[in-house]
Amino acid sequence: MKAIAVLGSTGSIGTQTLEIAEEFPDRFRVVALTAGNNLDLLIEQIRRHSPEVVALADAGRVADLRQRLAALEPALQPRRLPEILGGGEGLCAVAAWPTAELVVTGIVGCAGLLPTLAAIRAGKDLALANKETLIAAGPVVLPELATSGSRLLPADSEHSAIFQCLQGTPWPDTARLSTGVPTPGLRRIQLTASGGAFRDWDPADLHKATVADATSHPNWSMGRKITVDSATLMNKGLEVIEAHYLFGLDYDHIEIVIHPQSIIHSMVELADSSVLAQLGWPDMKLPILSCLSWPERIDTPWRRLDLTAVGSLTFRDPDASRYPCMGLAYAAGRAGGTMPAVLNAANEQAVALFLEERIHFLDIPRLIEQACERHTADLTADPSLETVLEMDAWARRQVQEEAARVEPRLLHA
Ligand code: NAD
Ligand code: MG
Repeated sequence: MKAIAVLGSTGSIGTQTLEIAEEFPDRFRVVALTAGNNLDLLIEQIRRHSPEVVALADAGRVADLRQRLAALEPALQPRRLPEILGGGEGLCAVAAWPTAELVVTGIVGCAGLLPTLAAIRAGKDLALANKETLIAAGPVVLPELATSGSRLLPADSEHSAIFQCLQGTPWPDTARLSTGVPTPGLRRIQLTASGGAFRDWDPADLHKATVADATSHPNWSMGRKITVDSATLMNKGLEVIEAHYLFGLDYDHIEIVIHPQSIIHSMVELADSSVLAQLGWPDMKLPILSCLSWPERIDTPWRRLDLTAVGSLTFRDPDASRYPCMGLAYAAGRAGGTMPAVLNAANEQAVALFLEERIHFLDIPRLIEQACERHTADLTADPSLETVLEMDAWARRQVQEEAARVEPRLLHA
C-alpha cells in the first residue's frame, strides 16, 4: 500500500489521481491533500479519503474549513478529522508530510515550486505534473534532486511516454531520472502535440479567438490554464524545456510533431536509429497511474486501445506562424538560466489576463516576447532560488504594466 500526497487535489490532475486511489484502494492510501479555494470539493475529498493532513493555499480560509469540518465530525466518526494547515508553509508541510511516500504535484503554475522543492528536500518520490516548476527553476531543482534521493517520475503524458520507452534501454539508473545529464543511447525526442483548439483555424482569424474558443480542447480535458497553453502551443514549448531538463538532450534533438489523434504520446529515437513510442487513448489517468505504481504495472479494466477504431494516425510539422509561442519557448530554453523562468511567468500572467478577457489571444505571445527581450541583458546563467523567484515576479509585473499601457486595445477596458 503506497501512501500518497496530492498537491492541487481539487484540479484536473488532483481529482483524477483521487479517482485512481478510489479505484485501487488496496494499492494506494491518500494521506495528504492541498487545495486552492474549492472548499466544497476539498470537504468531499476529506470525507472520502480521510487524509491525515490538508492545507489550503489561502490561509485566510482555514478557520472556515475547520468550522465546516467540525460540523461534519459526527458523520466522519470513527475517523479523525485531518490536521488543517494554511498558506505557503502549510503547502510545504504537506509536501514533506512524513508518512507520504509519493507526492503528486498537481498545483498549476510556479505556485508549485516551493512545495515541490519541499517534497524533494524531504526525499519524497514525485509524480511531476506541475511542469512550470521545472521550467522556471530547472537549475535549482536538478542539483537538489541529484543529492536528495528523491525520484522524479514524469506525469505529463509526453514525458511519461518517453520515460516508459526508456525503461527498456540500457540505462544506468532508471530510477533517478533528472540529473540533466544526457541519457545514454537517446538520440532524439519527438513530442507529439494535438495542435490545440486552433489547429484547423486560418491563422488570419486568430485575432478573433475568444476565451470560450481557446478553452475547448479537441482531445484532452484539463484545467483552463493548460488548455489555453495548448491552444498557443506554449504547453508543448514548455514541454520541450521540461524534456531538456528531464532527459538531458540539447534543443536541436527535441522536436514537436502535430499528431491530431493524440494516440502516440511521444517517441524516442535511439542511437541505432530505432524509434520507440508509447500509445494509449488520450486519458491522463494512464500516465498518473504509471507514476503511482512505478516500477510495477497494475491490471486495470480501463478501455483498451483499438487502433482499428482509430483508423489512421497522422503527423505534420507545426506551423511557426500559427504558433509563435513555440519559437519563444525554444529561444528561452536555449538561452537557459533565468530565461525559462521569465518565459513561464510572463506566460502565466498573460494567460490569466486573457482568461479575464483583458487582452486578446494574440497579445499572449506579444507580451511574452517583450518580457523575454527585456530580460536578455539581465539573464543569470546559474540562478539561486531567490533569483528565480525575483525574476518570476519581475516578469509578471512587466506583463501587467505593458497590458495596462496598451489599454485602449483591451477588450473590456
Ligand atoms: P487545475 O487548474 O485543474 O488545478 C490546479 C490545482 O492547483 C487546483 O487544485 C487548485 O486549487 C490548485 N491551485 C491553483 N493555484 C494555486 C496556488 N496559487 N497555490 C496552491 N494551489 C493552487 O490544473 P491542472 O490542469 O490539474 O494542471 C495542474 C498541473 O499539471 C499544471 O502544471 C499542468 O501543466 C500539469 N498538467 C496537467 C495536465 C492535465 O491533464 N490537466 C496534463 C499534463 C500536465
Ligand atoms: Mg503534456
